[in-house]
Amino acid sequence: MRTYLESYLNLGFMEGTDKTRPECVICREKLANDSMKPCKMKRHQQTMHPETVGRDRDFFIKKQQLAKANKPMDIRTAFVRAGSDVQKATEASFECALLIAKAKKPHNIGEQLIKPACIKMVEKLCGPQVAEKLKTVPLSNNTVKDRIDKMASNCELQLLEKLGKGPFAIQLDETTTVADEAVLIVYVQYIDGKI
Ligand SMILES: [Zn+2]
Repeated sequence: MRTYLESYLNLGFMEGTDKTRPECVICREKLANDSMKPCKMKRHQQTMHPETVGRDRDFFIKKQQLAKANKPMDIRTAFVRAGSDVQKATEASFECALLIAKAKKPHNIGEQLIKPACIKMVEKLCGPQVAEKLKTVPLSNNTVKDRIDKMASNCELQLLEKLGKGPFAIQLDETTTVADEAVLIVYVQYIDGKI
């Protein structure tokens, strides 16, 4: 496992939210963990953002702050932001990731089955132009994983927020997985809204 070094910011890369992948501060693309080496990052910078080569550290610090500030903190903001096609495609990608998570299917089912199947169906029913639009919905393995992680942490945040507001009952249970790992299950009951 390669780890992030502060000096990589000079090549336009900050540490990704999952701590394992470098994230471009310009286009927000996340490279794979094995690309966490200067030559790979340099190549991205030279081919994708040649205008940033050799800029000073302050330039990248500003870009990093901007990139971090733009991070959608709330799933709802990501959903509400409709309007442009790109935003609609993002919304569709979240909806689809939620379905994949609920069905407990592997993350790659999005790119391997769901997207091509949707494109075929829409092509038949609505024509090739509408089908073209579907191709803009991001559903790669990594995207689906990221979407699910974001929604999960948002659910957790919402729960913590609600538990912080009033009394709740707690119930604990323990079990082990097939691999003999200990698992602690915490059930909380609380009143949400008015009664
Ligand atoms: Zn980039």
